Amino acid sequence: MYFKNILVPYDESDHAKSALHIALGLAGPYPEAKVHVMTVIPSSSLPDPTLLANALETPYAVVDPTSYERIMQSVAENACSDAQALIEQSRDDSQCEIVADAVISNSPVEGIAEYVRSHDIDLVVMGRRGLGALRGMIGSVSFGVLRSVDVPVLTVK
Ligand code: ATP
Ligand code: MG
Repeated sequence: MYFKNILVPYDESDHAKSALHIALGLAGPYPEAKVHVMTVIPSSSLPDPTLLANALETPYAVVDPTSYERIMQSVAENACSDAQALIEQSRDDSQCEIVADAVISNSPVEGIAEYVRSHDIDLVVMGRRGLGALRGMIGSVSFGVLRSVDVPVLTVK
């Protein structure tokens, strides 16, 4: 197996789901390979109030002001379980290890680049487009990642 730690940055878009499919095609036959399905929660933006309501298990979007960090952590845990649900749907007969993860970072690009360094990632497989505006040929996150990491990046439509 050439790639041992493959990162699939996951933003719940169909493109990112296609990226996971490709990553599992590459790593699936290898029990020693690991695929990381990872969502970046940008710390610069306030989370969606409905996400907050879910995170706090309340029907009201009323935020406990005591700990913003605790709330962000809950949001990250929710993102993690969304990724875990996708993994269960996509696993098929893959023999590789597949893990769900979520990190809080200043931006998706920064979070992905930092994750590549800290988890010994040797390949990134990501959507070329994501959840975003219909502009340009390649999304800003994919473009930023291409510029910021030293490992190969495979972009998927
Ligand atoms: P833009 O956001 O500039 O409008 P876009 O939404 O079309 O463009 P990108 O945001 O670059 O495209 O998304 C491309 C890919 O980047 C996604 O398919 C996904 O793999 C990854 N990605 C985007 N945002 C995140 C995020 N917050 N966490 C993890 N991966 C992400
Ligand atoms: Mg986007």
